[in-house]
Amino acid sequence: MSPSVLDSPVRSAAQPRANTAARDSLPAAQPALAGPPLGRRLMAAGLLTDSELQAALEHQAKNGSKLGESLLELGLVTEEQLLPFLRRQRGLPASRGDRVLARVVDRKRRTFNLDGLGLPGDLLTQVKRLLTKPYGLLLICGPTGCGKTTTLHSALELIKSGQRNIVTVEDPVDYRTNWVDEVQISEAKGPTLPVALRSVLLRDPDVITVGEIRDAETAEVAVKAALTGHLVLSTLHAADSADAIVRLVDMGIEPYRVAASLIGVLAQRLVRRVCVKCRTAYCPDPELLQTVGCSRDGARRFVRGEGCRACRGTGFAGRSGIFELFAVDEVARRLISHRSDTMTLRARLCEQGCRTLSEEGMRAAEECVTSLDEVLRVTALEESADRTEFGASETLRDGIQ
Ligand SMILES: [Zn+2]
Repeated sequence: MSPSVLDSPVRSAAQPRANTAARDSLPAAQPALAGPPLGRRLMAAGLLTDSELQAALEHQAKNGSKLGESLLELGLVTEEQLLPFLRRQRGLPASRGDRVLARVVDRKRRTFNLDGLGLPGDLLTQVKRLLTKPYGLLLICGPTGCGKTTTLHSALELIKSGQRNIVTVEDPVDYRTNWVDEVQISEAKGPTLPVALRSVLLRDPDVITVGEIRDAETAEVAVKAALTGHLVLSTLHAADSADAIVRLVDMGIEPYRVAASLIGVLAQRLVRRVCVKCRTAYCPDPELLQTVGCSRDGARRFVRGEGCRACRGTGFAGRSGIFELFAVDEVARRLISHRSDTMTLRARLCEQGCRTLSEEGMRAAEECVTSLDEVLRVTALEESADRTEFGASETLRDGIQ
């Protein structure tokens, strides 16, 4: 279990305004995305003086960091004070008060280690093998907040070496490293992702990571890069590995090009880990077991958290990843070329002897990592992975520790 998964960066809350700790520092009920820049909004809220802002700006210029980071590093604001003002915060007036979603990225505490994400040994070996390939497209997919970026950066961490020229193109650049050239893009100011990607291609790196394939143009350039001798790593918002393949085709990429470029799709989810301090064994309802296709036998034990001070009464502490890897082989290539649907592709996945996300979830429940209810919650996500960012994050709100 890696801290990098435990610290996965989505936090959301939907609480009455009177109970929202950050409420006092919110300048009225306006969404923080609009309005003046971060420094001026903090000053308007009385959290920052002019001289402190100047000091932070100097620190920012000196270290090349973002303003929020500089403010934290200089101790001028606390994380709790800063949180409501972060760029990714979305505020939405609702009947019980403001509904807030914020993404917290802790660059200092985070470490990237593919070995520690929770990948079973056989999948880990396969993923590492795919990462040694000189060219091809490797996709990481799942809903918002499932840890795709963590996996992407962990993969990069593994393949970094002086021998391979690596460039990342993303918006925003979440994590800075010393050994990768990062290109910040901006849909508003430019360069846009496809434009930046084309520019990067001219410099002929060995490995290119694209933060997320969100549109047909980006998908086309990513596929082209993979077909012209680059290893391309990217993420895609899709329910599972088969769905990701179909989505690429639906975006307008010729199936034969998808088939020729794709080397693998790693689908993932995060499940909340049951708190070890208050973990108790229990027998789930037989009907529930039947629902998940699990036969009841005496030896099988499931656990759940009763709730304690350590887990703040939630019964959960930390999170773990569950994964499904579709390594694209010759049979799969033929299926993709013939525009096969998700059912056919999933059947091929099973023929390969691979475990689906649901099966991996059940394994995690049987190994007492998580609860059966938690697996069902994640399984429900599979059916609606294209929900909005609000919706997807809402389901994770209790899992943040
Ligand atoms: Zn507990």
